[in-house]
Amino acid sequence: MTVIPGRQGSAELSELPDPSAPTRGELLVEPLLLGVCGTDREILAGDHGEAPEGAERLVLGHELLARVRAGGEGSSFEPGELVAAVVRRPDPVPCACCARGEWDMCRNGLYTERGIKGRDGYGAELVLLEEDFAVPIPGELGELGVLTEPASVLAKAWDQIERIRGRACSGGDRALVTGAGPIGLLAALIGAQRGHEVHVLDLATEGLKPELVAELGAEYHAGDIDSLSKELQADVVVECTGVAELVAGAMTDTAPGAVVCLTGVGPSRALRTDVGALNNEVVLENDVIFGSVNANLRHFEHAVEALRSADAAWLGRLITRRVPLEHWTDALDNGGEDIKVVVDFGQ
Ligand code: BGC
Repeated sequence: MTVIPGRQGSAELSELPDPSAPTRGELLVEPLLLGVCGTDREILAGDHGEAPEGAERLVLGHELLARVRAGGEGSSFEPGELVAAVVRRPDPVPCACCARGEWDMCRNGLYTERGIKGRDGYGAELVLLEEDFAVPIPGELGELGVLTEPASVLAKAWDQIERIRGRACSGGDRALVTGAGPIGLLAALIGAQRGHEVHVLDLATEGLKPELVAELGAEYHAGDIDSLSKELQADVVVECTGVAELVAGAMTDTAPGAVVCLTGVGPSRALRTDVGALNNEVVLENDVIFGSVNANLRHFEHAVEALRSADAAWLGRLITRRVPLEHWTDALDNGGEDIKVVVDFGQ
């Protein structure tokens, strides 16, 4: 699954040489399922992404579930084991954060990301994966392991939220999640698992999204953000759309001491917002607004635990469409109804 970054319409199924045999520290893996997301869509649209140095094309794909075919010498993985894969690789300097394994907090921007920035991804029939970046998936999770990467992004977001809330007394645990796509639903899942009273806002008025939210024991809302924020006065907001109006709404009318976590990116958009009033609310209520991206190994491990503790049937319903490899670009057409679409290498 390749694309020329920056060039819309360049996506194709390319013939590439087989990877070499895995050496020490490497695994040769066979992808089973590969999730696609908004980032892949942005790369296909020519708005994001970077090919490896010296290459024209980038192999796309970063939400991997694969089976180990072979490990290099001394490997601790067995053939047949299921693995997910970390996306980001530390910058070569390395910066203080990458040096500590916290590449998700990279400070100099020289990190690479498989399938996104400067490194080929996992959208191929055979992939060499660095063993240190492979995440064991328990057999009982099976195909649901394809949700590990998106779940890792929310495991990180919640980890950061809890750390920030630990700064002082934080009374309530009412959480508002904006957006009921895969990221929003996984945010809601982890919030519910952590004992929050979860509310989810989305545009859909019927169908799978309200059902999935209700099954978590959470409350679904399809109104506008401003009146909902006023009504809820949330203690935690996880913004999962990147839509400017929702971002502005997410920051406003929260509870005192609220923590607002922004996880989405969206098109540039100027809004008329009363920044003075927003400032006064944030200052006078000790609110925190912060952004969160990517995930390190610890978050991937937490993601596996979160998926393991979830209801497998609920998780299974997040995967609404499977597309065979030969038609992989169809996976990127989002009809609006889909939650998670995966490329199925076995079809
Ligand atoms: C991925 C992250 C990545 C981000 C920015 C997201 O889709 O899940 O791992 O850091 O895109 O490239």
